Order: sequence, then C-alpha cells, then structure tokens
Amino acid sequence: MAAIRASQLGFKTAVVERENLGGICLNWGCIPTKALLKSAQVMEYIQHSKDYGVTVGDAKADFPR
Ligand SMILES: Cc1cc2nc3c(=O)[nH]c(=O)nc-3n(C[C@H](O)[C@H](O)[C@H](O)COP(=O)(O)OP(=O)(O)OC[C@H]3O[C@@H](n4cnc5c(N)ncnc54)[C@H](O)[C@@H]3O)c2cc1C
Repeated sequence: MAAIRASQLGFKTAVVERENLGGICLNWGCIPTKALLKSAQVMEYIQHSKDYGVTVGDAKADFPR
C-alpha cells in the first residue's frame, strides 16, 4: 500500500518483498477475510431461506483451501 501511494505521489518506487507480493491485505487480511465472511453470510441465508419465503435444495460449502 505504501509503495502504491508513494508511486501515486510521483516518487520513484521499488518493492522488496520476502514473502507474497501485495502484503497482508491482499493475501491474508482484508480481501480473503471479507470473501470468507461473505461466503458464510450466503450460507446462513441459504440455511434460513424459509424465513425469507424461499425454498432451497441441498447446499454445501466448497471453500478453497
Ligand atoms: C485479518 C485482517 C483483516 C484486515 N482487514 C482490513 C480491512 O478490511 N481494511 C483495512 O483497511 N485494513 C485491514 N487490515 C489491515 C491491513 O491488512 C494493513 O493495514 C495493511 O496490510 C498494511 O499494509 P502495509 O503495506 O503497511 O503492510 P503489510 O501488508 O504487512 O506488508 C508488509 C510486507 O513486508 C514484507 N516484509 C516484512 N519484512 C520484510 C523484510 N525484511 N524484507 C522484505 N519484505 C519484508 C512482508 O512479507 C509483507 O508482505 C486487516 C488486517 C488483518 C490481519
């Protein structure tokens, strides 16, 4: 994030990364977390679909590992 901002501000920028390019937010924190939370929310909607007047067949979670 800092590198993107530095570049936006016109600084000549280089990134040195020891693990995964993109850091915590892209690879582990913000984005994967939000994707998992959304999947869990959708699963809960399905499990309680009758509360919304909707009938749904069998549903199973198929999350990537
Ligand atoms: C579960 C979780 C959810 C989050 N959700 C949100 C959210 O919804 N919204 C939000 O705004 N923020 C969120 N955050 C916070 C966000 O992830 C951080 O604020 C952001 O990642 C900080 O970015 P950064 O570039 O400063 O550091 P980082 O993303 O930590 O990047 C630092 C990088 O430096 C590398 N590094 C470290 N030491 C060295 C070294 N000696 N040599 C080479 N490379 C090195 C690391 O491998 C890492 O990739 C969340 C964090 C977590 C843990």
